[in-house]
Amino acid sequence: MILETLKTSSRLLLATHIRPDGDAIGSLLALGRGLASLGKEVTLFNESAIPAIFRFLPGMDEIVSEPGDFQAYDALVVLDCSDISRIGQVAERLPQDLSVLNIDHHITNTGFGTQQWVEPKSSSTGEMIYHLLGDLGVGIDQAMAYAIYTAILTDTGSFLFQNTTPDSLTICGEMAAKGVDTYKVAQHLFATYSLGRLKLLNMVLETIEISDNGKLSVMYLTQEMLKETETDVDDINGLVNYAKYIEDVRVAVLIQEARTPLDDEGRYHVSLRSNGPVDVGSIAASYGGGGHPGAAAFTAFATLKEVKKEVMRISESL
Ligand code: 5GP
Ligand code: MN
Repeated sequence: MILETLKTSSRLLLATHIRPDGDAIGSLLALGRGLASLGKEVTLFNESAIPAIFRFLPGMDEIVSEPGDFQAYDALVVLDCSDISRIGQVAERLPQDLSVLNIDHHITNTGFGTQQWVEPKSSSTGEMIYHLLGDLGVGIDQAMAYAIYTAILTDTGSFLFQNTTPDSLTICGEMAAKGVDTYKVAQHLFATYSLGRLKLLNMVLETIEISDNGKLSVMYLTQEMLKETETDVDDINGLVNYAKYIEDVRVAVLIQEARTPLDDEGRYHVSLRSNGPVDVGSIAASYGGGGHPGAAAFTAFATLKEVKKEVMRISESL
């Protein structure tokens, strides 16, 4: 169904989630370029600023932060979003009659849109896009290969997470054979820490607390810390993982004070990471958020003290 709609549409708007990660950006670029190679008019949209670490990917300057008139499109393709609101404020002004194609791998996907293709077993949306491009008859070129490789690499935590499958490894091998310089990707994504980012990491590590039963660790990050270390939201990516590296910890949490003026005061983004069998996706969903069994997040409106207390309560059921 989705395949047919893509084939018959000539003007397509592609969108992905705010605070985009490698999978969001990679899926957007790969599908965008693939559809363009079939002669379609494609607009790539993301409401947030794109993290600097992804700027090396071919085609990045084609991503716009304003989609323009929706009447100009035959369909909107939403990538890597569990919920339509994840595309940002623009979700509120979508016309009722706009055809929305939902392509995603979150188990918590709400099933929004006119047509859905959700594969919770897929490591990443990028991996789904690889198969979709094959079905569309698109020959994957080097630029698409960079995008797909980055999507899979980042969503599998460099093949360390439980969502890593033979398929994800095979596809990445194939992308490398198509000319992806895997060392270059690694350098851009993981070896470009600023001194400020390391200082921020140091500050965040200082805040670590472990639950009484030792199964949950929680850290926090404030706007003040960002200011003091001259860092920004780009530098937060991945910090939560450090809370996972503690023996016996099953769930690691990073509470992040949301940014003003976009966000109200007393608003926190709570990132959860699982270190084993615990499904943090359903924990996040119970707080109104979502994600995957291994990585999820939700938003909390309270004081930092209250949020910490609530998070500690999660440890009781671990
Ligand atoms: P992070 O902790 O890196 O912000 O997000 C972890 C995972 O949870 C990602 O896969 C992301 O797609 C999902 N996620 C993050 N924030 C939200 C949210 O507010 N709502 C939902 N449904 N999912 C989220
Ligand atoms: Mn993803």
